[in-house]
Amino acid sequence: MHYAKPLARLVGELEKLPGIGPKSAQRLAFYLLRIPADEARQLAEAILEVKERIGACQVCFNFTDQPICDICRNDRRDKTLLCVVAEPRDLLAMERTNEFTGRYHVLGGVISPMDRVGPEMLRIRELMERIQHDQVKEVILATNPTVEGDITALYLTPLIKPFGARVSKIAFGLPMGGDLDYADQATLIQALEGRRQL
Ligand code: ZN
Repeated sequence: MHYAKPLARLVGELEKLPGIGPKSAQRLAFYLLRIPADEARQLAEAILEVKERIGACQVCFNFTDQPICDICRNDRRDKTLLCVVAEPRDLLAMERTNEFTGRYHVLGGVISPMDRVGPEMLRIRELMERIQHDQVKEVILATNPTVEGDITALYLTPLIKPFGARVSKIAFGLPMGGDLDYADQATLIQALEGRRQL
């Protein structure tokens, strides 16, 4: 396919996005060509703005435009109940339940030998510091029901227990390989309430 250079550049950039193949990239690029310049500028600016203004919360590593996120600044959220998730989108999934009253810790991934992600690449040291500092009573491991999610939970459990905190894992009614993010509210509430102590 011979695109004019600027168009080829746009298609190339769009193709890098997750879930976007060459066909979709072309469709999106042609769509963007047709919209008013103002609308295109707003999209470009929105992308730049999140890159400039959104960073990780200094405490839980959730995405935030503040040094410390809303959840960590909320005194009504129980500091001694900590839910450990892999990614910020999993945190959002748990928040959608409106059931969880504790706080979160975002690991920044899961242990995955296949992808060469070792525990030292996750925010585990920061997790241990919080457990100790906030005298956490229970840590709920809410990693996805995947091999990597399970490996990560197994790795964390013996590290947490010496601090005297209870460790539990959310009980999924989901098939192996499922994703927190895709679970509906009722399933997640069930998973949270049916959590198993490790
Ligand atoms: Zn936070």
